[in-house]
Amino acid sequence: MNVFKIGRYWIAANKPEQAYYEWLDYSSDFENLFDLSEIKEGEEWTEEITIKRLTSKQIDNETVPCCNGENDCDKCDGLNDNVYSTFREIIESKSEEEFPCVIAIEE
Ligand SMILES: [Zn+2]
Repeated sequence: MNVFKIGRYWIAANKPEQAYYEWLDYSSDFENLFDLSEIKEGEEWTEEITIKRLTSKQIDNETVPCCNGENDCDKCDGLNDNVYSTFREIIESKSEEEFPCVIAIEE
């Protein structure tokens, strides 16, 4: 499994195009990026996208807090801080059918 960063999203997927379609779905639901329903006749739209493939080392080292940093789930109950999982641990906790999926969002 690879991890791609597109915009503010880190997405686990086998192939970059899978990550890209996941990103399109996810970002249009949540942020109305690429809301092309408003495009008028004769208008043109250009959007620049940067997609980055993480190294294995980055997948091992990058971490995400549990419960989006809220500190109120089963994992971190009674602790003063969130429990952090590496991207690798998150990927390994999921089954094959769950990919591609967003595993972290940059603040
Ligand atoms: Zn938590």
